[in-house]
Amino acid sequence: MVEVVGTAPTSAMVITKFIYRHSWKTNIINIKGIKIDSTSIMKLTKEQLEEIKNQQSQSNQTKRVTVAELEKILYEAMPALDHGFVRVVDYMGDDTSIVQSARVSYGKGTKQVSTDKGLIKYLMRHWHSTPFEMCEIKYHIKLPIFIARQWIRHRTANVNEYSARYSILDKEFYLPTSENLAAQSISNRQGRGDIIDGEQAKEVLKLLKDDAERTYSNYETMLNERYDGTTIDENKKGLARELARMNLTLNTYTQWYWKTDLLNLMNFLRLRADHHAQYEIRVYADIMLDTLKKWVPITYEAFMDYRVGGTEVSAKGKLTIQKLIKGEKTSLEDSGLSKREWNELMESFNLKDSVIKK
Ligand SMILES: Cc1cc2nc3c(=O)[nH]c(=O)nc-3n(C[C@H](O)[C@H](O)[C@H](O)COP(=O)(O)OP(=O)(O)OC[C@H]3O[C@@H](n4cnc5c(N)ncnc54)[C@H](O)[C@@H]3O)c2cc1C
Repeated sequence: MVEVVGTAPTSAMVITKFIYRHSWKTNIINIKGIKIDSTSIMKLTKEQLEEIKNQQSQSNQTKRVTVAELEKILYEAMPALDHGFVRVVDYMGDDTSIVQSARVSYGKGTKQVSTDKGLIKYLMRHWHSTPFEMCEIKYHIKLPIFIARQWIRHRTANVNEYSARYSILDKEFYLPTSENLAAQSISNRQGRGDIIDGEQAKEVLKLLKDDAERTYSNYETMLNERYDGTTIDENKKGLARELARMNLTLNTYTQWYWKTDLLNLMNFLRLRADHHAQYEIRVYADIMLDTLKKWVPITYEAFMDYRVGGTEVSAKGKLTIQKLIKGEKTSLEDSGLSKREWNELMESFNLKDSVIKK
């Protein structure tokens, strides 16, 4: 039996069961699917729908690899939040491209699916990253400005944003659904706590809506132009678009083309599909995670196994776990870990009884 401070005597088996870097299937604690509220999904204009239909009906011949599953959803606008979307508009390469570049081979790169799988897992496990840079993907994203600010921190992508110097921004603002209207978390300064409901929820939503509408109306007044392109007062000049936009609320939607390679896409998804990330960006990351699965299924599986479901364990943490397996006595004090490190380690191995509460 393993003696662990604060651990129930019967948990010896639990320790050995969870000791390995296990698959996401048993340990998907960080990335959780997000249910999309179907009552408030974005509406595309007739012209936009027509444009997408045209793109989807085209057919081009190529000698390059294509991915049937991704082709099926190419150009489609997958709804995100109330007015946003994610569209895959282009991509280069597939799982075999990673294998091909890792082997620097002349051919398709595929020996057998099983050996490709083994190689991709090996590359992922040992952080051999450059073969993953050989695949690229391009998205068209519509998102609220305050989420775009978080997203743009990912510097390893190529971005081209809708120009609010050149065009008038759509009259669309993000308003959270009631179940996403949460109070400030007490334990985590960056997070959310309990749901706000009842009268207070109504008041908050009204404030958000009124402020967005008022500033948008002032935006139109300054531009001397309505969002539909009609002029407000023929005798007045409109303020330059690059200036008029500055009073808009951060929940106003913007759009961009975002292109990145597979390595950096996985870095983005690891951080932004995680439960530590803000809900609104996670909605986008979750949709993109699904596009990753369609595009490079073998890499997706390795990514979920090693990056998402796996756990990084420090040298001190490893020693602590080794002692636990051997049934040796160990405690926070002699582990050399901080309380936070200790608790994170115990939680990631599901040793809940060893988590130190106070
Ligand atoms: C939950 C969460 C909370 C956050 N909170 C904050 C916050 O409070 N304040 C804040 O400012 N940011 C915050 N961030 C943003 C975070 O610090 C990163 O800026 C963001 O996640 C981008 O990560 P990245 O640098 O790995 O991505 P990328 O910019 O895409 O870079 C990918 C990798 O490329 C390499 N790289 C890129 N550029 C350089 C460079 N110039 N020099 C050397 N290496 C480079 C690095 O290895 C990097 O990891 C938060 C992020 C998350 C997920």
